Order: sequence, then structure tokens, then C-alpha cells
Amino acid sequence: MSNRGEVALVGAGPGDADLITVKGLAQLQRADVVVHDRLINLQLLDQIPEGCEVIPVGKTPGGPATSQDKINQILLEKARLGKRVVRLKGGDPFVFGRGGEELQICLSEGISCQVVPGVSSAIAAPASIGIPVTHREVARSCTIITGHSEDLDYGALVRLDTLIVLMGYAHLSGICHGLIEAGKRSDTAAAVVEQATTTKQKSVFADLESIADRVKAESLTAPLVLIIGEVVKMGELSVVLAEIGAHESGEI
Ligand code: SAH
Repeated sequence: MSNRGEVALVGAGPGDADLITVKGLAQLQRADVVVHDRLINLQLLDQIPEGCEVIPVGKTPGGPATSQDKINQILLEKARLGKRVVRLKGGDPFVFGRGGEELQICLSEGISCQVVPGVSSAIAAPASIGIPVTHREVARSCTIITGHSEDLDYGALVRLDTLIVLMGYAHLSGICHGLIEAGKRSDTAAAVVEQATTTKQKSVFADLESIADRVKAESLTAPLVLIIGEVVKMGELSVVLAEIGAHESGEI
């Protein structure tokens, strides 16, 4: 095989297999090797050509994780063998996806690497329950944060419009209370969506004070996105409107 190996960092989208981009799908359909995360929709693997090697490297909860170094090594090694490597990541590769590190390592080793953006859960999860992350006269900005970090700057966060928290499951209650203590109103609208855009999607709407308890009471679990801010009310409204619409069309 000629030494034309390459790596494509492809966003798989948030969950629904149809939410991969046309470009991402084309990459999958011509891949020699697919190195994928846990959060991708496995139906996407139906798209790969026969004989394509599949290497899962995602962390299973409580199970072993393939280290980032090891993943980097696999990408380089396969590309050096002349393979077309697709690194398939949930959502967008550059939103809490460590895609930046993989791009850097490939380029620094002289391996051709392209990025195919994906639909991030940060935007798609709110959208899946009718929440626009910005809205004229309601929210002029939206901020995506990781809930994984213990030392969030709550003082800064309370001054922002829409907050979108990824990886927040373990610290949900701490994050909400941290915001309230720093001055965010406890009746600020909040919502959580689990497994957004999939058939297993679940969601709850509440206020900042009670959302963590509601998530617990309704047994929502990771992966989930927490959305905080005025725009959340539009999601609640759209749920009501959809129900009214379904009534009128005789579906309910
Ligand atoms: N690169 C990904 C994010 C990776 S971090 C993206 O752009 O979407 C992993 C976090 O993403 C999860 O902890 C969760 O907060 C969020 N997430 C990913 N897919 C999700 C989904 N279908 N529903 C809800 N949250 C999701």
C-alpha cells in the first residue's frame, strides 16, 4: 500500500445516526479503520465498508479507558501503514472531545489530518426539547461549560445568559447550588436532557433550585446536558404547544 495514510476527525453527531454530516458519512464509507468513542450511535458502523477495522476506544462507566496516548499511537500507527483512518467522536470533535490534541499530534508527526465538524450535543440537546440556545431579546450569548471540573468560576458564570453544562451528571447539585450561592436566582429556569435525539431521550424541566432533585427522582443519568436560563421557558412552552397540536390533530 502506498504511504498515503490519513486521519479524519469526524463528528458523529449527538445521538440520532441521521445527524452525522454528509461529509462525515462519506468519510465513514471509505474508511480502512474506524477508531470510535463510546457515545457514538453504533448504527453508524453499518455504513463502513467490508473489511474495515473497527477499534472501540471509549470509556465504559467503571470500565477501562484507553489512554489518550494509546489512542494517539493507534491513529499514527494505522495512518503510517497507509490506511484511511476515521476517528469517530460523539457530537463535534472539538467540543470537549480532545480533537485538538489528536489534530496536533497528527500534524506534528507529518500525518495528513482533516476535521469534519459534527452537530454538538451542546446545541442539539437543548434543541431536542425546543430550547434555542440564543433568542432575540432573551439571550445574546450561550456558554458551554464542563461540569466535570470542581473549580468553576461561579461568580463569572452568573453574569452570563444561557449556560449549557456538559458532563455535569456527577456534580449536578453542586453546580446548581454553586450558581445560586454566587447570586443566580433560584427560580431561574433549568432543564436536563438525557440521551438527546435518540429513542431513549428523557427530559425534565424545573428551576435551578430543584432541577437536581427532579433528575434524581426521575432517575435520569449520563449522558445528559443541563441548560440554565430564560430560553429554557421556550422549551417548556414548545412542549405544551406540541401537546395542544397533537390533541387538535386527534393523535391524543
Ligand atoms: N464532543 C461531544 C461532547 C463530549 S463530552 C459533543 O460535541 O456533543 C460528553 C458529554 O456530552 C456528556 O457527558 C453529555 O454531557 C454530552 N452528551 C453527548 N451526547 C449526548 C446526548 N445524546 N444527550 C445528552 N448529552 C449528551
